[in-house]
Amino acid sequence: MFVHLDNVKKSYETGEVSTTVLKGVGMELDKGEVGVILGPSGSGKSTLLNILGGIDRANSGKVTVGGIDVTGLDDNQLVEYRREHVGFIFQFYNLIPNLTVGENVEIVSNISKSPLEIDKVLKAVGMLDKKSRFPRELSGGEQQRVSIARAVVKNPNLLLCDEPTGALDFNTSRDILKLLQQINKDYGTTILMITHNTAISAMANRVYKVRSGEVIEKNVNETVVPAE
Ligand code: ADP
Ligand code: ADP
Repeated sequence: MFVHLDNVKKSYETGEVSTTVLKGVGMELDKGEVGVILGPSGSGKSTLLNILGGIDRANSGKVTVGGIDVTGLDDNQLVEYRREHVGFIFQFYNLIPNLTVGENVEIVSNISKSPLEIDKVLKAVGMLDKKSRFPRELSGGEQQRVSIARAVVKNPNLLLCDEPTGALDFNTSRDILKLLQQINKDYGTTILMITHNTAISAMANRVYKVRSGEVIEKNVNETVVPAE
């Protein structure tokens, strides 16, 4: 398995109060697959994604991505793992406001080992003609396209999307989901996505339903062929 979570547990300590957020989560994703995580707010979805992306650490259990034992990495190795192997897309784009579209993608490209060509990626997301614009001059959907370009330019093994369409209207959401599918097909990027948008569930290889820090249901969609 390309992505494998085994019995992942996580709790946060706030003063004397301990909150258990993940109660032994298991998850699997093959290379080139699209996985979807569904579940109500506060069920631990973002925490799970952050642990997979090396932003947060599990308390116990094992996480492997592309043969890398993520749980076994020290802090420096975790930074490198994040930089080289993982692309992140968030609900609120997180672009740097005083950099142009091109520059937002370039700063990620500059710190990557084997980046893709910036203009090719901008073309793939339909933003090449707006390369010199600033984020404030773009619509929400366009900003999300740029953040997809920024995540994809480093040619990541794994693309993690935390409610990528959560701030977008219906039609724009559909376009962004189509674009992510296209990225999956064109680059063979494995994608794991938190979403409330059930349209994507039908196109996903695996769907995980999470509630209160546990996987309560998983579905493998055999009819969807993983990307090469
Ligand atoms: P959503 O339901 O859209 O995923 P949340 O409001 O639950 O968003 O959480 C958004 C982010 O805020 C999470 O990724 C988490 O890291 C952070 N967060 C949520 N709750 C807390 C908290 N009690 N203390 C610190 N950070 C939190
Ligand atoms: P979801 O993404 O499903 O909304 P989260 O993973 O954001 O869920 O959060 C799950 C629970 O963990 C929430 O109760 C939230 O308040 C808590 N939480 C998340 N991040 C932190 C944090 N850094 N410190 C304390 N509690 C947190």
